[in-house]
Amino acid sequence: MRNLTIVGGGITGLTAAFYAERYLPEDVTITLLEASDRLGGKIDTFETGEFAVERGPDSYVFRKTAMTELIQDVGLGDEIVRNGVGQAYVLHHDGLHPIPKQTVMGFPLYVDPLKHTTLLSEAEHAALREMLLSPPNVEPPETDVSLGLYLRERVGDPIVDRLIEPLLSGIYAGDIDKMSALSTFPQFIEGEKRYGNLYEGMRHLRPEQRVAEVGAKKVGQFASLKRGLKSLTDRIAERLERTEVILNCSVEQVEELATGYRLLTNRGDIDSERLILTVPPRLIRQFLPKVDSDFLAEMKPHATATCSLVFKEGDIEFPFVGTGFVTSQEADVVITACTFIDQKWPHAVPDGYHVLRVFLGRPGADDIVEASDEEIVATALRDLGGLMTIHTEPRQAVVSRLRDGLPPYAVFHSDRVRALRAEMGRVYPGVLLAGIAYDGIGMPDCIKSVHEQIKQLAAQG
Ligand SMILES: Cc1cc2nc3c(=O)[nH]c(=O)nc-3n(C[C@H](O)[C@H](O)[C@H](O)COP(=O)(O)OP(=O)(O)OC[C@H]3O[C@@H](n4cnc5c(N)ncnc54)[C@H](O)[C@@H]3O)c2cc1C
Repeated sequence: MRNLTIVGGGITGLTAAFYAERYLPEDVTITLLEASDRLGGKIDTFETGEFAVERGPDSYVFRKTAMTELIQDVGLGDEIVRNGVGQAYVLHHDGLHPIPKQTVMGFPLYVDPLKHTTLLSEAEHAALREMLLSPPNVEPPETDVSLGLYLRERVGDPIVDRLIEPLLSGIYAGDIDKMSALSTFPQFIEGEKRYGNLYEGMRHLRPEQRVAEVGAKKVGQFASLKRGLKSLTDRIAERLERTEVILNCSVEQVEELATGYRLLTNRGDIDSERLILTVPPRLIRQFLPKVDSDFLAEMKPHATATCSLVFKEGDIEFPFVGTGFVTSQEADVVITACTFIDQKWPHAVPDGYHVLRVFLGRPGADDIVEASDEEIVATALRDLGGLMTIHTEPRQAVVSRLRDGLPPYAVFHSDRVRALRAEMGRVYPGVLLAGIAYDGIGMPDCIKSVHEQIKQLAAQG
């Protein structure tokens, strides 16, 4: 191999460049092309005086070690911080409800704590208890299934609609009834297969398999960096020694050559033997028309806006203490979630301030993302105003939009990704796909996948 070109300078592209420098022979030329004027992609920390506000992702699941390893590899291991733990809530049409203790992504590990939840009526709790302790006689699925339908069959609709769905759709955008069980939370089916039923399977989950367990941990399950996630992408960029990074370079088309590919960009043509493409699926479809375009077309990401509101103590009065809430489909609000940053990430907020980070935009209802900043702030304040007393305008409001946001992970997602990659190997040899659309939507998933692909590339010589 003579040269490798990486398209996209988000965390996936930067990780690819970093590990390519480590594993590929010295004489391989590495180029990283980024369409915008900055590296980091969705990761961007907005620093204002004493505050560091995340515009995109704010943390990663600590048990997914690929990201910790990368952070350590670039020398930032000492800057890892863990989240503060506390009560989280679900917002329904009738207000906020605490998420019951000892649940993993809303799934109960014990029956009794659920008795006190305001999310279920007495009769619904009794029915759930019965389903957990005397599981319905259903076989674990042999192939991928809809996560929602799988859970509904085993624990009933009320807990799925009021607790599990709001929590899961906060992570994986989209309809839980269309979401792939195997590509999102394989722990459910794996546990059922191993222990005979879902409830026993979940109770036996090893701590590292528990995505987010409420109420059992002293240390948070998420991690971030003291100076924000941008410090990671900045550091990776600083550590690149032999990668040529070209900003403001947008790839517009890819042409095949006898050996390799020609990238047509706004800054001229670039020829490369190998490519790693980390751009959104719609561009892959455009660049590589010979592969499964139906799948790529279906992977249309939904847009999200976030709005961070800075208040001084006394500006707002919370009737509750906690780290934030997610909203259910039943709630009559536009916002989809809110993180109380000063509770979840105390290091990021000086004493005497509250920072609320609000999320807006659901699949199929994301017009709000294109509204003006003023309208987004007004919408957030209106919805929050139904839950707390807000005495003054926020001292500061930072609105961000992620238009190429979260792609749907529908049933058979992993099978289709596997098939797509096999097809790519045949029709576009030397082109690799990496990023949010394939092997998991979180940053650690993107990092792990591209790190492994680089190692395989190096092994091929
Ligand atoms: C609202 C939201 C919240 C999230 N929160 C979390 C979280 O808390 N934790 C977590 O782990 N994950 C989170 N994620 C997911 C996380 O953001 C992604 O996993 C990760 O940032 C993906 O990185 P990437 O490099 O693959 O893509 P991107 O960051 O999107 O990078 C792609 C890059 O390609 C560039 N590009 C596009 N087109 C071209 C072109 N034609 N030519 C050249 N360059 C091009 C873009 O400018 C961009 O810089 C969140 C995602 C969203 C949308």
